[in-house]
Amino acid sequence: MSADPAEHFPADYRSGRHEFIAACGQSGIDVIARVHPQAKGRDGKPLFLDTAIIGPRDARKALLLISATHGVEGYFGSGVQTGLMREGLARHAPKDRKIVLLHALNPYGFSWDRRVNEDNADINRNFVDFAHPPQNEPYEMLAAEISPRDISPDAMKKANAKLTEFLKQRGAFALQEAISRGQYKFPDGVYYGGSRESWSARMLKDVVGENLAHVERLIVIDFHTGLGKLGAGEMITEDLPASPAYERARAMWGNLVASSEAGESVSAPLSGTIDKAFPGWLPGTELTFAALEVGTRSTRDVFNALRRDNWLHCFAEARHRHADAQVIRLELRDAFYPDTPEWKHMVWKHAGEVVGAALRAL
Ligand SMILES: [Zn+2]
Repeated sequence: MSADPAEHFPADYRSGRHEFIAACGQSGIDVIARVHPQAKGRDGKPLFLDTAIIGPRDARKALLLISATHGVEGYFGSGVQTGLMREGLARHAPKDRKIVLLHALNPYGFSWDRRVNEDNADINRNFVDFAHPPQNEPYEMLAAEISPRDISPDAMKKANAKLTEFLKQRGAFALQEAISRGQYKFPDGVYYGGSRESWSARMLKDVVGENLAHVERLIVIDFHTGLGKLGAGEMITEDLPASPAYERARAMWGNLVASSEAGESVSAPLSGTIDKAFPGWLPGTELTFAALEVGTRSTRDVFNALRRDNWLHCFAEARHRHADAQVIRLELRDAFYPDTPEWKHMVWKHAGEVVGAALRAL
């Protein structure tokens, strides 16, 4: 007996968290909560990063499933995690394997319908040496146009004209990379990697140290949305074709695998990702890491939703916050979470397939 998978997807962070904990409880799995020391949710209540562990403590092979690295993308990842638990992940998992479900790595963004955290920082650009952060000169050149202080139609027209000029000279992929690679100079800009290690980054390291330190073989799937065609799926790896990690990913996930570093992917190459942090935490572990990226709206719509959201939180005057906040929040939510049964069925299918393949490969 299985319910309509669309019903696994939550209405908001709070209900997503409750449903995840309840689904774990139904399977006899306890959830460990890490509370955010400062930030509060949109409902004024505390925010948590929750973990559920299936399988023996000392298992040598493990699967880690992460949701809401990019806050608002957590509708998808949280829905998948809850659905997997409801459909018996704990009962059907191989007995000598460990599965770690990390629910809401960035609970602030999930709760507030933002991609970033409480510091306007992108968790998946946050793993860098902050004394020597990566450079992103194209972003610096276009900062005012990428993340405008004025989003009136006239101002946007001018900003877009400059971005189009760059696109004509350097190509669409170069523009995408300039915008999304990650930048460390403009705290009030999009794709800002932060100025310090975020709470989420610290907690992730903590979860890995506590649960995965002794593991010999680890597969990680980080659930993302916002790139690609509506409902399409891609397993983005940062490993290069022909590397052992890439070959392992291909053997598991077949044609869904695409390397962002090799230009195969819907994603540009990125700085400071979680993917890059793991080998340093787990030297000697055979690691296969991929982001399941599922498509939502057009690149332009997603980008404009991010710019408007950034404007609202970084530049808007109080009267705008009042008048425009709800519209912009819902626009951003829709850009990363098309709340329709059709989309949910499509992305649920991708998630089920890649998790199933990972469990068989472990
Ligand atoms: Zn993402």
